Amino acid sequence: MKIVLRRVTKTPLDFEIKSNEITFKGYLEYYMGKLILLKAKLSGSLYKDCDICAEEFILSLDENIEFFINDGIFEDDGSIDLDVVESFDGAVEIEELLHSEIELIKSDYHSCKKCKN
Ligand SMILES: [Zn+2]
Repeated sequence: MKIVLRRVTKTPLDFEIKSNEITFKGYLEYYMGKLILLKAKLSGSLYKDCDICAEEFILSLDENIEFFINDGIFEDDGSIDLDVVESFDGAVEIEELLHSEIELIKSDYHSCKKCKN
Protein backbone atom coordinates (compact mmCIF):
# COMPACT_ATOMS: atom_id res chain seq x y z
CA MET A 1 0.00 0.00 0.00
CA LYS A 2 1.78 3.07 -1.28
CA ILE A 3 0.62 6.50 -0.21
CA VAL A 4 1.64 9.67 -2.04
CA LEU A 5 2.49 12.20 0.66
CA ARG A 6 1.24 15.34 -1.08
CA ARG A 7 -2.21 13.74 -1.28
CA VAL A 8 -2.42 13.50 2.51
CA THR A 9 -4.60 16.27 3.94
CA LYS A 10 -5.97 17.29 7.31
CA THR A 11 -8.63 14.64 6.81
CA PRO A 12 -7.14 11.44 8.25
CA LEU A 13 -6.32 8.83 5.64
CA ASP A 14 -6.96 5.40 7.12
CA PHE A 15 -4.90 2.33 6.41
CA GLU A 16 -4.92 -1.22 7.63
CA ILE A 17 -2.55 -3.97 6.58
CA LYS A 18 -1.76 -7.42 7.86
CA SER A 19 1.49 -9.32 7.81
CA ASN A 20 1.24 -12.87 9.15
CA GLU A 21 -0.31 -12.51 12.61
CA ILE A 22 0.26 -8.78 12.86
CA THR A 23 -2.20 -6.00 12.12
CA PHE A 24 -1.04 -2.46 11.49
CA LYS A 25 -3.98 -0.08 11.57
CA GLY A 26 -4.01 3.66 11.74
CA TYR A 27 -4.05 6.85 9.75
CA LEU A 28 -1.92 9.52 8.15
CA GLU A 29 -2.74 13.18 8.58
CA TYR A 30 -1.13 16.36 7.29
CA TYR A 31 0.56 18.27 10.10
CA MET A 32 2.55 21.27 8.82
CA GLY A 33 5.32 22.15 6.39
CA LYS A 34 6.35 18.87 4.82
CA LEU A 35 5.37 16.81 7.83
CA ILE A 36 2.75 14.09 7.88
CA LEU A 37 1.71 12.52 11.17
CA LEU A 38 1.32 8.77 11.37
CA LYS A 39 -0.65 7.27 14.24
CA ALA A 40 -1.24 3.56 14.34
CA LYS A 41 -1.73 0.53 16.47
CA LEU A 42 0.35 -2.58 16.02
CA SER A 43 -1.35 -5.66 17.36
CA GLY A 44 -1.09 -9.41 17.10
CA SER A 45 1.83 -11.64 17.83
CA LEU A 46 5.21 -12.68 16.49
CA TYR A 47 7.83 -15.33 17.13
CA LYS A 48 10.86 -14.08 18.97
CA ASP A 49 13.89 -15.75 20.55
CA CYS A 50 14.02 -15.17 24.30
CA ASP A 51 16.96 -12.93 25.21
CA ILE A 52 17.71 -15.06 28.26
CA CYS A 53 17.21 -18.74 27.34
CA ALA A 54 17.22 -18.29 23.53
CA GLU A 55 14.08 -20.37 23.14
CA GLU A 56 11.49 -19.18 20.70
CA PHE A 57 8.26 -17.87 22.16
CA ILE A 58 5.21 -15.94 21.06
CA LEU A 59 5.38 -12.27 21.83
CA SER A 60 2.03 -10.49 22.02
CA LEU A 61 2.00 -7.05 20.51
CA ASP A 62 -0.15 -4.14 21.47
CA GLU A 63 1.77 -1.02 20.65
CA ASN A 64 0.74 2.50 19.89
CA ILE A 65 2.94 4.00 17.23
CA GLU A 66 3.26 7.65 16.48
CA PHE A 67 5.82 9.40 14.32
CA PHE A 68 6.20 11.93 11.54
CA ILE A 69 7.05 11.36 7.93
CA ASN A 70 8.79 14.23 6.18
CA ASP A 71 8.50 14.70 2.44
CA GLY A 72 12.22 15.15 1.76
CA ILE A 73 15.10 16.07 4.03
CA PHE A 74 13.93 17.10 7.47
CA GLU A 75 15.51 20.21 8.92
CA ASP A 76 15.30 19.75 12.63
CA ASP A 77 14.71 23.02 14.48
CA GLY A 78 13.91 21.30 17.75
CA SER A 79 10.17 21.96 17.61
CA ILE A 80 9.19 18.36 16.88
CA ASP A 81 9.43 15.92 19.75
CA LEU A 82 8.52 12.75 17.86
CA ASP A 83 10.70 10.66 15.58
CA VAL A 84 10.81 11.83 11.99
CA VAL A 85 11.21 9.43 9.08
CA GLU A 86 12.33 11.00 5.81
CA SER A 87 10.87 10.02 2.48
CA PHE A 88 12.84 10.81 -0.67
CA ASP A 89 10.39 9.71 -3.32
CA GLY A 90 7.35 11.62 -2.10
CA ALA A 91 5.56 8.48 -0.97
CA VAL A 92 5.47 5.93 1.79
CA GLU A 93 5.02 2.21 1.58
CA ILE A 94 2.95 1.13 4.60
CA GLU A 95 4.36 -2.42 4.42
CA GLU A 96 7.90 -1.03 4.72
CA LEU A 97 6.95 1.00 7.78
CA LEU A 98 5.39 -2.08 9.34
CA HIS A 99 8.48 -4.16 8.65
CA SER A 100 10.80 -1.62 10.20
CA GLU A 101 8.54 -1.45 13.28
CA ILE A 102 8.66 -5.24 13.56
CA GLU A 103 12.46 -5.20 13.26
CA LEU A 104 12.61 -2.58 16.00
CA ILE A 105 10.47 -4.71 18.32
CA LYS A 106 12.56 -7.79 17.54
CA SER A 107 15.76 -5.94 18.35
CA ASP A 108 14.37 -4.88 21.74
CA TYR A 109 15.00 -6.94 24.83
CA HIS A 110 12.26 -9.53 25.42
CA SER A 111 12.19 -12.59 27.62
CA CYS A 112 9.79 -15.52 27.64
CA LYS A 113 7.26 -16.21 30.40
CA LYS A 114 9.45 -18.86 32.02
CA CYS A 115 12.37 -16.47 32.34
CA LYS A 116 10.17 -13.64 33.59
CA ASN A 117 8.96 -15.70 36.53
ZN1 LIG B 1 13.42 -17.59 28.20
